[in-house]
Amino acid sequence: MRQYLNWKTYLALIAVFIVGASLYYTNQLAGKLADEEKKKVEELAAALKTLVTSKNDQETAFASTIITQNTTIPLIVTDEKIRIIDSKNIDTVHAISPGRVVVEKLEEFKRLHPPIPADYGTGKNYVYYGESYLLTQLRYFPYVQLGIIMLFLAVVVIALSAANRSLQNQVWVGLSKETAHQLGTPLSSIEGWLELLREEDPNSEAAIEMQKDLDRLKLVADRFSKVGSAPQLEEENLVLRLEGIVEYMQKRAPKKVIISLHNTEAEIPVNISGPIFDWVMENLIRNALDAMAGEGKIDITVTNTPQQVWVDVQDNGKGIPGHQVKRVFTPGFTTKKRGWGLGLSLSRRIIEKYHHGSLFVKQSEVGRGTTFRIILRR
Ligand code: ADP
Repeated sequence: MRQYLNWKTYLALIAVFIVGASLYYTNQLAGKLADEEKKKVEELAAALKTLVTSKNDQETAFASTIITQNTTIPLIVTDEKIRIIDSKNIDTVHAISPGRVVVEKLEEFKRLHPPIPADYGTGKNYVYYGESYLLTQLRYFPYVQLGIIMLFLAVVVIALSAANRSLQNQVWVGLSKETAHQLGTPLSSIEGWLELLREEDPNSEAAIEMQKDLDRLKLVADRFSKVGSAPQLEEENLVLRLEGIVEYMQKRAPKKVIISLHNTEAEIPVNISGPIFDWVMENLIRNALDAMAGEGKIDITVTNTPQQVWVDVQDNGKGIPGHQVKRVFTPGFTTKKRGWGLGLSLSRRIIEKYHHGSLFVKQSEVGRGTTFRIILRR
C-alpha cells in the first residue's frame, strides 16, 4: 500500500513540476507579448495623432496603414472626459446591445492598463486597450494544460489500479485452483488406504478418526476449488449453517471462550455457497479468538431485514486501533507473529465477489472489542 501511495505521489509531483515550469514559461512569454502590444498601441496612438494633424499625404497614408494593420488588439478611443469616441477590434456582432459591450470593455481595459494619452490638437484623447486574443489564450494555457495533465493522471491511476486488481484476482484464482488440484491426488490415495484399513478391522478407531480428518481435508480442497472458480449459490437456511459453524468452532476454542448465536427467526433462507461461506465465518471467529487471551465471548447475531441479512461477529477482544481499521482487509496486513494477513482479504473477496454482499468492520474499540458485519443480499 505504501508503495502504491508512493508512485501516485511521484506522479503528482511530476505533474506539479510540469505545470509550474509551463506556468513560468508562458508567463514570460505573455509578459513579452504584453510589452509588444503596449508598444503597438503607443504607435497606434501616434498614428492616430498623425492622421488628425498631419497635412502630409505620405505621413497620413503610413499612419492609416499602421491603424488598419492592427486587427488583434482591442482598443477604445475616448475624449478628455472619458466619453467613447471610437473602438476597434471589439466583437459586437453577436451582441444585443453593442453600445453596452463597448462600455463594459472600457471598464475592463481601465483595470488592465493605464490609458495612453494622445493629444490630437482638438483636445486631449485617451487610448484604452485590452489584450489580444492570442495573449488571453496564452494566459489560460497553463490551466488548460493542468486540466489535461490531471485527466491523464486520473486515467493512468485508474488503469493501473484496475491492472493491479486484475493481477490480484489472477493470483487468487490461480493459487486456489492449483492448491485444490494438488490436494486432490493424495486425498484419493488416503481414501484408498482408509478403505483397506477398514477391511482389515471394521471397528478400527484409527480409521474412524482418520475419516473425520479426511473429510475435513476434502472440505478444504473443495473450498479452494470453489474460490478458484465462480461457485454456484444455493438457497440454504443460514441459521442452520451458522449453528454448524458455532458448534464446530466452540469445540476448538479455549474452554473459557463462549461462542453464541443470536437469531430471532429459526429459518432465514439465503443464497450462499455453503463451504466458502463457512470459511469466512471461520476466519472471522478465529480472528476473534486470536484477539482475546483465551477468555471472553463471541456473539454472532443474525438480523433479517426485507432486503438484506446481516451477520455480526462481535468479540470482546483487544480491538483494532483506529489507524489500522482501514488496512485490515489489505492482503499481507497482519499484526500476528505467524500471520499471513490473507484471511480477511480472502473473506471479503468471497463475500463481495461470489455473494455480491459486503464485509466490513462495523465497530472497534481498543481494549473493548470488535464487530465485523457481513451483509448478504436476499
Ligand atoms: P491474519 O489473521 O493472518 O493476521 P487477517 O487478514 O485475518 O490475517 O487479519 C489481519 C489483521 O487484522 C490481524 O493481524 C489483526 O491485527 C486484525 N484483526 C482481524 N480481526 C480482528 C479482531 N477480531 N480483533 C482485533 N484485530 C483483528
